[in-house]
Amino acid sequence: MTDIFIRITGRAGRITLQRPDALNAMTYAMCLAIEAALDAWRDDAAVAVVVIDAQGERAFCSGGDIADLYATGRAGDFAFGQKFWADEYRLNNKIFEYPKPVVSFLQGFTMGGGVGIGCHGSHRIVGDTSQIAMPEVGIGLVPDVGGSLMLALAPGRLGEYLGCTAARMTAADAIFAGFADHYIPEAAWGSLIQTLELTGDVAHLTPQVPPAAGPIETRMEEINRHFHGASLSDIWTTLEADDSAFATQTLKQMRRNSPLSMACTIEMLSRLRGPTLTMARALDLEYRFTARAMEHGDFLEGIRAAIIDKDRSPTWQFADGVVPPVAISKMLRPLGDKALKLEDTGMKIGFIGLGNMGAPMAANLAAAGHSVTGFDTAGTTASGVTMVSDAAHVAGDADVVITMLPNGAILRSVADQIIPAMKAGAVLLDCSTVDVESARAVAQIASQAGVMAVDAPVSGGIGGAAGGTLTFMCGATPEGFAKVSPLFEIMGQKAVHCGDAGAGQAAKICNNMILGATMIATCEAFALADKLGLDRARMFDVVSTSSGYSWSMNAYCPAPGIGPQSPADNDYTPGFAAELMLKDLGLSQQAAEAADADTPMGALALALYKQFVENEDGLGRDFSAMLPRFEGRGRG
Ligand code: NAD
Repeated sequence: MTDIFIRITGRAGRITLQRPDALNAMTYAMCLAIEAALDAWRDDAAVAVVVIDAQGERAFCSGGDIADLYATGRAGDFAFGQKFWADEYRLNNKIFEYPKPVVSFLQGFTMGGGVGIGCHGSHRIVGDTSQIAMPEVGIGLVPDVGGSLMLALAPGRLGEYLGCTAARMTAADAIFAGFADHYIPEAAWGSLIQTLELTGDVAHLTPQVPPAAGPIETRMEEINRHFHGASLSDIWTTLEADDSAFATQTLKQMRRNSPLSMACTIEMLSRLRGPTLTMARALDLEYRFTARAMEHGDFLEGIRAAIIDKDRSPTWQFADGVVPPVAISKMLRPLGDKALKLEDTGMKIGFIGLGNMGAPMAANLAAAGHSVTGFDTAGTTASGVTMVSDAAHVAGDADVVITMLPNGAILRSVADQIIPAMKAGAVLLDCSTVDVESARAVAQIASQAGVMAVDAPVSGGIGGAAGGTLTFMCGATPEGFAKVSPLFEIMGQKAVHCGDAGAGQAAKICNNMILGATMIATCEAFALADKLGLDRARMFDVVSTSSGYSWSMNAYCPAPGIGPQSPADNDYTPGFAAELMLKDLGLSQQAAEAADADTPMGALALALYKQFVENEDGLGRDFSAMLPRFEGRGRG
């Protein structure tokens, strides 16, 4: 993903937001990527400290990327926004509770969603350009992403003031309000980050005193006087009765904002303040509002006015500023079984082998909200997947480890490494095509270690892997199959439970033995038709609707320009390489040998593909390139 750069440098887990042209606004994918990285680094001894920074001088992060939320909300889909906020709040909580130091460098704007990732770590660094704010009431939300916790903890009535006015804090004010810890001149940040990467030791942070007290801090007497009221109406009344510059300016700021949002903010802070205040309580209360914000609040109107029509004239509910208590209760009452759940709802997935098939499969799982950690010896990557440096690292914490590897020998060696590191009850889900014996051997070692093994080779090729339309054929216990079934729904369109361990591989090699033989038969029939002077299009027309039809003819026609698009139309660039077909035919003959099954067609298909790949021009070409091979040959 180009919007965010996640890596381990020296002793530091490094997260850099890199959307400077969008003021580093957080997308949903960025949020999931950060969470996956934090999960992967929690128990990784190589990571001593997490350092979060951002590209560009104007902003650390100006907030959440709300355009998608608006589009789905306008279409009446409130579930997307609810999931986005719930997942974002879970990440905010993770940063807040992280067991290792998290150091953030907050230049320029740090607002809303930016506060959620920048202001909950252990060491929050501000500099001369820092401007921190919770501006949510301006778009019909309430201070969220855990911001209500900090507002409730801020001195005096500063929380009400910041939450209702969206006032921007300088470095000194942010430290005073509890949104930041240290002032360090920005010119020193680069070398400081290098030191943290080198040493992993936060003792190297040497804070300085901010050059001057912040302007907000100097107004605390007026803030406390005007914002001590129990309701929005009380606050309006005292401000309107005062003709000071402070009151005039504050009223001007507040008149831009949603009265319902401001009234709920004041109610939230009053409920939160006190000895039972926790991050979990703050996030729960915030989510009660945001989960209802599209349907019942001013959120969609706020976004319309701010970023869609940009007229900056929202039509708020309760525009006269009088918000009845019942409207506040309606937004903040408990959500019952829809309440925010801070524990992960997604699975922790390790993915080993991110090649042509594995990379898009892993990306689909990450996009569906699972936390995916990956490893590939070739150093490949996949969107939304946090790559780590060895196979055992993906295994330790995982609920499911998926393998997508070239062959059975590699699968066995990877299984030997990871099974001892996997937790009891976890599942090893192998989606590679391998020999039945390897699948059964891995299942046996896994079961001895208390790990469930599922062999689930796939059909559907790289198109199916990218589109999430694969077919899975599975060998597993009913329990193992049930545990990974939700993942099949993301990566594929169909999963068949074929039987016990090895049954999936058995189904796959039987299927591919038929495929190899029918492809050869289809190719030789086209070559014969050519010699008989039969037009290829007519031949296709007849066979594809007669008893000679097959997937090879109807869906993957080996003749260029005939039937649906296929690798034949792309000069036989592989969709499914001839050498992979050779491997699968070898597996079927190996199994037939072991089971004493008579498979002469399979044996002949193997011999022909062996000849094609090893002695002719089949290597690196699609398996349907058998047609040009037959075209040039006679019977001799
Ligand atoms: P690929 O070669 O593109 O990917 C395999 C990946 O495994 C590579 O990135 C490689 O670096 C990695 N790898 C190898 N050894 C490793 C190790 N010890 N640890 C970690 N990573 C390792 O192959 P592919 O096309 O993605 O196929 C993967 C499997 O899927 C094969 O078993 C293949 O038969 C099967 N399959 C492929 C297709 C297809 O159309 N490509 C279709 C169905 C099934």
